[in-house]
Amino acid sequence: MKYETVIGLEVHVEMDTETKIFCGCRNEFGDAPNTNVCPVCLSMPGTLPVLNEKAVEYGVRAGLALNCRIPNYSKLDRKGYFYPDLAKAYQISQYDYPLCAEGSVEVFTDAGPHTIGITRIHIEEDAGKLVHEAGESFVDYNRGGVPLMEIVTEPDFENADQVRAFLETLRSNMEYIGVSDCKMEEGSMRCDVNISVRPEGQDKLGTRTELKNINSISAAARAIEYERRRQIEVLEDGGEVIQETRRWDDDKGVTSAMRDKEEAHDYRYFPDPDLVPVYLSDERIAQIRDSLPELPAAKRRRYTEELGLPEYDARLLTASKDTARFFEDTVALGAPAKQVSNYVMVELPRLLKDAGLEPADNPVRPEQLASVLRLVADGKINSSVGKQVFEEVFRSGGDPEQIVKEKGLEQVDDAGAIEAVVRQLVAENPKPAEDYRNGNKKALTFFVGRVMKAMKGKANPQTVNELVRKELE
Ligand code: ADP
Ligand code: MG
Ligand code: ZN
Repeated sequence: MKYETVIGLEVHVEMDTETKIFCGCRNEFGDAPNTNVCPVCLSMPGTLPVLNEKAVEYGVRAGLALNCRIPNYSKLDRKGYFYPDLAKAYQISQYDYPLCAEGSVEVFTDAGPHTIGITRIHIEEDAGKLVHEAGESFVDYNRGGVPLMEIVTEPDFENADQVRAFLETLRSNMEYIGVSDCKMEEGSMRCDVNISVRPEGQDKLGTRTELKNINSISAAARAIEYERRRQIEVLEDGGEVIQETRRWDDDKGVTSAMRDKEEAHDYRYFPDPDLVPVYLSDERIAQIRDSLPELPAAKRRRYTEELGLPEYDARLLTASKDTARFFEDTVALGAPAKQVSNYVMVELPRLLKDAGLEPADNPVRPEQLASVLRLVADGKINSSVGKQVFEEVFRSGGDPEQIVKEKGLEQVDDAGAIEAVVRQLVAENPKPAEDYRNGNKKALTFFVGRVMKAMKGKANPQTVNELVRKELE
């Protein structure tokens, strides 16, 4: 029997506010344990939470970026659970009136676009972190009270590729709106995967398991692949999938049962009497909407429709806002969009990767790339020297025109000089010359390569091509 996979995600995103969600403690990753704490986020009896307005605003920004409806009324609830990472024995979260609802996101994979429904986004407090060392356990409450949003999707994913694309799209949107850096490796984005399988064509959803402890986007893809096979095997053997929470072990590449699935009633949700409900007027929502920057989807559309770029380029260029800004600023200086795109998609990421830098650390200024492209367009240098100059600018800075002058990289287009080299090389290599005349046209490439090399890559490749052909024929 053929099976199809159904996946829904619950994604936790830490919001990059200055302070925590219910107190004035600093919201900072990586500080010494228990230094950003106070009686409120340590859950001392008698303390009272005060909702951070910024956390609400960030949640609404996220909701608007993911095309959600923002209700005017929402409230905070207590979700009971007992564990030392949250000493109150309940988490302040949202239950039946979340901050945002009914959104959607379009994701792109090699198989084409696909729409993922967003069920809801609610805000809540993060718990502290347990640290296990030498047989003892410690609690670091720095993370306790860090503002989180939980984004719950509809069970709309069909495969791991769509999940990967969704998480990348989510990260890119959150980066654009300045809400979070969404680094799974640092825990600022955490993702639970709900997954089930069903016979192809069946309407009813299969029984799902929920996968926890997924620490990277690629781990999510591996966990999905493993778990769907496991479930199919259980069904093929005549068994039943048990609804449960399973833990992904990335080293072993397997999931294993962790606990039975808890139901909503297990949490004894009830409205938090210490916090007033959140009222957002239509004016306030419109104000937040107006403050959003141009988002990746709108940029992508503009790049293809107005700049004539291929969809593929538009997607890559808009993934990070720093990359998009560099691209746009260079084009604004008059450089042709497609040529800028080639540098920004290929040369720049390669150099950044080699240097261990992020797009935000790009040392090249738009004027410098525009100048490299102008030198190529004017025929002052050929296009491969252009890449060389760009690399030099990346490594040591400087003015491209100056670099070309100092290093003597000007393109040689003097037919006489090129012809002399061509003559000599053809005379020295009678065998490939003969091959060419016998119909092996590949021999042409051999000579062009040799001439370019002899002229230190500076010759005009078109002229070389013409002269080699003339000489051989
Ligand atoms: P709970 O709150 O108990 O975790 P929800 O019904 O809110 O359950 O669903 C949580 C997540 O599980 C959502 O992302 C939803 O899309 C997904 N989901 C629900 N049913 C299935 C299923 N049969 N297969 C895969 N995912 C599912
Ligand atoms: Mg759940
Ligand atoms: Zn505090």
